[in-house]
Amino acid sequence: MAKKATKIKVNKAEAAKRVKKIWPILETTYPDAKSALNFRNPFQMLISTILSAQCTDARVNMVTSKVFKKYKSPADWAKADLKDIESDIRSTGFYHNKAVSIKNASKAIIEKFDGSVPDTLEDLVTLPGVGRKTANVVLGNAFGKPAIACDTHVIRLSRRLRLSENSDPVKLEFDLAEILPERIWTVFSHSLILHGRKYCRARKPDCANCPISGYCPAANNPDLW
Ligand code: SF4
Repeated sequence: MAKKATKIKVNKAEAAKRVKKIWPILETTYPDAKSALNFRNPFQMLISTILSAQCTDARVNMVTSKVFKKYKSPADWAKADLKDIESDIRSTGFYHNKAVSIKNASKAIIEKFDGSVPDTLEDLVTLPGVGRKTANVVLGNAFGKPAIACDTHVIRLSRRLRLSENSDPVKLEFDLAEILPERIWTVFSHSLILHGRKYCRARKPDCANCPISGYCPAANNPDLW
């Protein structure tokens, strides 16, 4: 059973001050923070993001390097046989659900949005298989709009850094939106993901070498992880 998130208290004014200290360090540490998924347009980003659930970005890129040559438009995915899609994306895992989402989202893009991926959160989440996190990834990366995508790293680090007391991704997104300048919403999420992979890992965070440890309330304190 997953470990229940510990209850913590966060002072928003303090959290905002903490962001001002840690952001310049994160920005310098991860100057190229961006999505590792390969895409050429919002539609490809949408497909890649759906495929990336429970899968590494490297694996998704391997699969999309082939499938984006075979299926070029929403119409190509919409009319494809479900079994063919499943077989083409099988190695990303959960391939049946992902194939259904991709096919149905493609149909909806054609029927409701004239074949173009919508560029608002409200419209994106109406697409089958597209939740708030996927919508934010597409908005932030493919449309360049400010968007905070709360994946597991963003949730874990935001709590350790006491930027939010929530582990529910939607509540956490709203907390971060309150304390982060809008211009860094997207890149801040990417930086936290990179930081989570490099230093602030789930089980054994490397606080001894972490460049933001001086501002982290959980530094060297396993009770606060
Ligand atoms: S000091 Fe430790 S807990 Fe805090 S962000 Fe760095 S690695 Fe994570």
